[in-house]
Amino acid sequence: MVGEVPGVPTKDYARQHAALWPQLAPRLEELFAGGDAPILGAVVERFEQRFAAWCGVDHCVGVNSGTDALRLALEFCGVGAGDEVVVPAHTFVATVSAVVQCGARPVLVDVDPVSMLVTGEAVAAAVGPRTRAVLPVHLYGTLCDMVGIGEVCDAHRLTCIEDAAQAHGAEDAGGRRAGGFGHVGAFSFHPSKNLGAFGDAGALVTDDRELAERARVVRNLGKSGKHEVVAFGPNTKLDTIQALVLDLKLDHVDAWTARRRALAARYRQRLAGLEALTLPADGAPGRPCWHLFVVRCAERDRLRQHLADRGIASGMHYPIPPHLQPLPLDLGRLGEFPVTESIAASLLSLPLSHEHRDDEIDRVCDAVEEFFG
Ligand SMILES: *Cc1c(COP(=O)(O)O)cnc(C)c1O
Repeated sequence: MVGEVPGVPTKDYARQHAALWPQLAPRLEELFAGGDAPILGAVVERFEQRFAAWCGVDHCVGVNSGTDALRLALEFCGVGAGDEVVVPAHTFVATVSAVVQCGARPVLVDVDPVSMLVTGEAVAAAVGPRTRAVLPVHLYGTLCDMVGIGEVCDAHRLTCIEDAAQAHGAEDAGGRRAGGFGHVGAFSFHPSKNLGAFGDAGALVTDDRELAERARVVRNLGKSGKHEVVAFGPNTKLDTIQALVLDLKLDHVDAWTARRRALAARYRQRLAGLEALTLPADGAPGRPCWHLFVVRCAERDRLRQHLADRGIASGMHYPIPPHLQPLPLDLGRLGEFPVTESIAASLLSLPLSHEHRDDEIDRVCDAVEEFFG
């Protein structure tokens, strides 16, 4: 079936790195020749400052994953044992795991069937006497309703921590970016994200100077100086080599986001007429960064196979919601979050990245049209 035609991947790291290599190679060479310390040097500091400015916040503290960024953000906001944190039921399991890791109880809420995101209304309905924080997830690169969620947080004196792991550069109508709405924003730079390192990496961003200073100490084994230790902290620093990759990619990420938006618009235009296929909401008046282009269809598994037979890869984010995972904690029963469960059973991520060519997206659209034909 595939014949001579090469397949369409969901992502292609080699393609991305080949394009960057002429710029990356001399920087790596300089680094390894003694250009900076392997840990906590000028490169990390430079990236942190530039990323904070790019997000529109004052401070960025690099850590070694998005999950650690979330966990530390919660901890620094005082969330711990006995507290409840409201999280969407439809998310990557790391969101929920971060809450459990800091000793608090995650309270899951169902998402909106159109946006697939948590809403202010859903958060308000879940607030109780023990609620301490809200963790909205800008899933797939579309901002949650941060006005609505912000109002609920203000009314109940709750801390808002954004899971912006999929939302680098996602903007509201006024151009305000993900990570700049809550008290803290947590980012992942996992290689698959819109801004990705060559390995694990993450960061938290905030306008709270004290919190950022504390984070710099805690991420580094609690060290306040070369020999002084003031906290029992983990070792979760952003590596210099990852910061160097990220600092270079930061020069390109706006152009990459523009490219993702153009390809999302192309999908939208080509696939709009198919009744049996639900397209993702366009995020208006905000501007998503299109980390993923997630369609929904009752015959998901058959569509996925149809695409695979034609050499087209697809993904599922995420087919098993956290409350249905075999985890050692009861997060909810089957049937408790019907919207999340129906999304999980029907979702399919079509190939989308800044590296994809127009003709690849067209091939995906042809195959999808043929399926429903
Ligand atoms: C990727 C991701 C995380 C976790 O980030 P890691 O860097 O993999 O630890 C958390 N939340 C969401 C929504 C993610 O997509």
